[in-house]
Amino acid sequence: MEDCLFCKIIAGEIPSTKVYEDDLIYAFNDINPQAPVHFLVLPKKHIESLDATNPEDAEVLAHILLKIKDIAKEQGIVNGYRVAINCGPDGDQTVKHLHFHVLGKRKMSWPPG
Ligand code: 5GP
Ligand code: ZN
Repeated sequence: MEDCLFCKIIAGEIPSTKVYEDDLIYAFNDINPQAPVHFLVLPKKHIESLDATNPEDAEVLAHILLKIKDIAKEQGIVNGYRVAINCGPDGDQTVKHLHFHVLGKRKMSWPPG
C-alpha cells in the first residue's frame, strides 16, 4: 500500500520506536501516548481495518492477541492494560491500517469517551 503511513513505518521509511517485530507483526510506541506505556501492534500485511479482515487473516490476528501479553511484560506493565481497536469513522480510526492499541501503567476508565 503506497500511501499508507503504517506500511511506511513497517518498511522503515518513516522512523518509529520499535518495541517488537517478527515475520508477521510490528509494534512501536504511539507518537501521541495516552498512557505512560502506549504502543501499537500491527499486522505487516496491509489490512485496512478490523472491518476488512477475512478468515485468511485468522493466523495473524491470533498471533497479535497472543503476543500482546509478552510485549506488555517487556514494557514493564505489571498491573493490567487496555487493548483497543478503533474501527471506521464512529470508532475514531484515523490511520487506515489495522492496529491494536495497548495502553498501560495507569488506571483506565470505562466507558470510553
Ligand atoms: P487510530 O486513531 O487510527 O486508532 O490510531 C492511530 C494512532 O497512530 C494514534 O494514536 C496516533 O497518535 C498514532 N500515530 C499517528 N501517526 C503516527 C506516526 O507517524 N508515528 C507514530 N509512532 N504513531 C503515529
Ligand atoms: Zn498499510
